[in-house]
Amino acid sequence: MTALAPSFLQGRWQAGTGDGRPMLDAVTGEEVGRLSTTGLDLAGAAAYARSVGGPALRDLTFHQRASLLKALAGHLREHREELYEVSARTGATLGDSKFDVDGGIGVLAAYASKGKRELPAGSVLVEGEVEPLSKDGSFLGQHVLTSRHGVAVQVNAYNFPVWGPLEKLAPALLAGVPSIVKPATPTAFLTAKLMELVVGSGLLPEGSVQFLAGSVGDLFDHLAEQDLVSFTGSASTAQQLRTHPTLTARAVRFTAEADSLNCSILGPDSGPGTPEFDLYVKALTTEMIVKAGQKCTAIRRAFVPEQHLDAVAEAVIGRLERVTVGNPTNPDVRMGALAGLEQREEVRRSLKSLTDGGRVLFGSSEHVVVTDADAERGAFMSPVLLSADPDSAAVHEVEAFGPVSTLVPYSSTAQVVDLAARGQGSLAGSVVTGDPEFARDVVLGAAPWHGRMLVLDRADATSSTGHGSPMPQLVHGGPGRAGGGEEMGGIRGVTHHMQRTAVQASPDMLTAITGRWVPGSVRTTTNVHPFRKHLEELRLGDTVVGGPRTVTQADVEHFAEFTGDTFYAHMDSEAAAQNPFFGERVAHGYLVVSFAAGLFVDPAPGPVLANFGVDSLRFLTPVKFGDELTITLTAKQITPRDTAAYGEVRWDADVTNAAGDSVARYDVLTLVAKQATS
Ligand code: NDP
Repeated sequence: MTALAPSFLQGRWQAGTGDGRPMLDAVTGEEVGRLSTTGLDLAGAAAYARSVGGPALRDLTFHQRASLLKALAGHLREHREELYEVSARTGATLGDSKFDVDGGIGVLAAYASKGKRELPAGSVLVEGEVEPLSKDGSFLGQHVLTSRHGVAVQVNAYNFPVWGPLEKLAPALLAGVPSIVKPATPTAFLTAKLMELVVGSGLLPEGSVQFLAGSVGDLFDHLAEQDLVSFTGSASTAQQLRTHPTLTARAVRFTAEADSLNCSILGPDSGPGTPEFDLYVKALTTEMIVKAGQKCTAIRRAFVPEQHLDAVAEAVIGRLERVTVGNPTNPDVRMGALAGLEQREEVRRSLKSLTDGGRVLFGSSEHVVVTDADAERGAFMSPVLLSADPDSAAVHEVEAFGPVSTLVPYSSTAQVVDLAARGQGSLAGSVVTGDPEFARDVVLGAAPWHGRMLVLDRADATSSTGHGSPMPQLVHGGPGRAGGGEEMGGIRGVTHHMQRTAVQASPDMLTAITGRWVPGSVRTTTNVHPFRKHLEELRLGDTVVGGPRTVTQADVEHFAEFTGDTFYAHMDSEAAAQNPFFGERVAHGYLVVSFAAGLFVDPAPGPVLANFGVDSLRFLTPVKFGDELTITLTAKQITPRDTAAYGEVRWDADVTNAAGDSVARYDVLTLVAKQATS
């Protein structure tokens, strides 16, 4: 009997007791190790996460946490060969391992970069615009997000032992929430290797990550209001956990990503001989082979126009015939083993239900020619292509979690949209077509049932990331049967770990709380121009007022000739008189903005390095000849960059006329130098 794999709890590696559950090599059937959490203090682990990991992470800013993710990605990248080596024992070919390992590291890197670029300085996320709640502007509302003070329990599936834990860990860490990582038994030995590297890196604050080598035991009984559970696995376990009495009684946030009957749809326009036909066939075959079809996003239902069904079947079979199954470390092998014999048994059972309502076009659940391995001891299986009638119930209900897909003919757009929905909610769907109208009708028709939809055609074929690849920037999850949850999706995945609070307050209070100046707050004007201040010297509310400057007809005509913008509303009195908004000639909006810059700029070299854009520019009141303009520019948000000699400053710009009405409002975005340190 092999040794029990240790868990990493409360800052130390510790093994449970008892015989434990075996983990088997998917290729040889050999025992790799055992798992047990019996006797471990799981209530203590949750408390430790909350009392040690949470505060340590919350002491860091978003940008500091993003730097940790970047460093961790680098560390894992250096050690990825070790992960590939262990990964082969899960049945994965080198290509499969890269999908899992490099994909997971890619998620860390993507979150590191998003955290730096899209999250503010500090650790509070201000969401959306300020909502005015009173006529006089003295009472405002603003949504803010703060880190939850709980622990994120991450229950993973067996098919992605590296990517799965990392895609859950990255957003949690960035949000400042500690995690307890729980792998699925069959491939837990690979997640254990990953966690050994994560913990061994010494990069993460104490208590921010713990690892459970075995079942969750009584952990769920000890979860509380601020905690979260992110689950990936079967729909039945999701259902069981969702209704766990502690989770429901204490409103523990729960998100699930479960099995789903994803579809791929070939457009009627894309018959044999078109690039889209070849793309469809290739994508379908790839999704069957990669990870031996054990992908939650794999194509289970292939909807094909009835007139192309035979051609698609022939082309897919042609490809499948060339697939070598066997030892994943043998370079000639295209498809490795399933994660274990139990998993193969489950696929065989599902296949039986599927074949009751369909017919086998290629392959067999029982027989397979295996290269360089023992077909009995390893969890090998042939790819299996089926066909079924659109009305077969099984094809829309039974998921065979292996190299199995079913071709289903359809005869109209409405029918295929309806068939897509019969999966009762999917993670991913794809449409392969060169016809934009068909793509629109199918995507918009099927979207309510899908978390992600790919439209594949000759234009995006070479750059497309494929049907089955969830992207950190995009939502991963789906409605209904797919679990009803959402993971990743860029910063959305971070916000799932945070609490959104609507704060109602006066402008000054709101500025103090959010770290973002809001209109109505105190403005500070001194005889030092704010453009002469370095980043550390600037304060929210620092203001410069410029003007007034009168806009003349000559100015407008000069601007029109100089720029070539001779639009009638500026140049033609008669035509302008007919314009419902103006009734007479008016100044160009861009002239107003240019004059404003001329009024607020301090021209000499100084800390302001560049103006890199404007946000939310709105022209609110027409500027007529003779109007006087005044600009009020106020420091609104100050975002130092940790690793640069400068930071970003967002300024509120309000251009007003003599009556005090705003004629233009926008944010000016600048880069401002920090004080020289030498
Ligand atoms: P399970 O739902 O049985 O297991 C998924 C995870 O949940 C594992 O970590 C498992 O841990 C854990 N788990 C199981 N029961 C409990 C419980 N009562 N309390 C807490 N945690 C629990 O799925 P399988 O891994 O067996 O896969 C079964 C099917 O799920 C597949 O055949 C496939 O159809 C689908 N699937 C879907 C995936 C997706 O990404 N959407 C991925 C993988 C599978 P332990 O191993 O310790 O039991």
